[in-house]
Amino acid sequence: MATVNDLLLRHSELSPASDTALLDTELLLCHSLSVDRTWLKTWPDKELPAADSQHFEQLFKRRLEGEPVAFIVGTQGFWTLDLGVSPHTLIPRPETELLVEAALELDLPDQSLVLDLGTGTGAIALALASEHPSWQLTAVDVQPQAVALAEQNRSQCQLDNVQIYQSDWFTAVANRQPQAKFNLIVSNPPYIEVDDAHLFEGDVRFEPASALVSGTDGLDDLKIVVGQSSGFLQPAGWLIVEHGHEQGEVVRELFNDAGFVLVETRQDYNQMDRITLGRLQD
Ligand code: GLN
Repeated sequence: MATVNDLLLRHSELSPASDTALLDTELLLCHSLSVDRTWLKTWPDKELPAADSQHFEQLFKRRLEGEPVAFIVGTQGFWTLDLGVSPHTLIPRPETELLVEAALELDLPDQSLVLDLGTGTGAIALALASEHPSWQLTAVDVQPQAVALAEQNRSQCQLDNVQIYQSDWFTAVANRQPQAKFNLIVSNPPYIEVDDAHLFEGDVRFEPASALVSGTDGLDDLKIVVGQSSGFLQPAGWLIVEHGHEQGEVVRELFNDAGFVLVETRQDYNQMDRITLGRLQD
């Protein structure tokens, strides 16, 4: 019979396919045994029933074939939340937590109205809603499956201050009466160039192009989001967007052209430009 440790040693087979082979193996084993990582550390010599080892083998094989761990186990941790994921949306990334941090640092009113454009799993909106129960969040996505998933995550996280509906960027937001003016708009839109080689490597191969790719220069959607936000913000309202590491300068220009002040780009944990924020005039 295989022990916990025997199965964890399998991680070396995964090293060519994953930068996080041991962590991936631990997460797959946790999922197949319905235990947490502390349990694995506590019981390394525990012999496992054949059915559990076989379940692990099935999951491990999928990971060897490149499928992201989040899709295999069905969830991904983001901020303090455990979010359901699906192949219809992007898997929440640690870099995107920077956007959440930047939003939480702003000096915004207690009763702020906040809009998350292209919410996917709901990650950004739900993280902000969990930190600020007095804020009212609106989260939209063009994909009906993403809207359904975000709603499921909202309900799972028991957050009552988030309203989620389908909208192609601002289209349905603009049609709501009375039309809300937000204190903050946040977005992690698709921003990868259509022929970027990165799209053929690793986890992104399993994610939908609609959540990743945005025209030949990756800027089609950022132009819409940045260009149209000022019409939906209150005076002195803030906009924060995530973008590609080579897009900082051009995104700052988009912000300046759209009338934002205090425009600033921040870097991620790899010292790469990752988010830009700016404020409208008073
Ligand atoms: N940062 C992601 C990646 O490079 C892309 C996220 C996005 O397009 N919004 O895989």
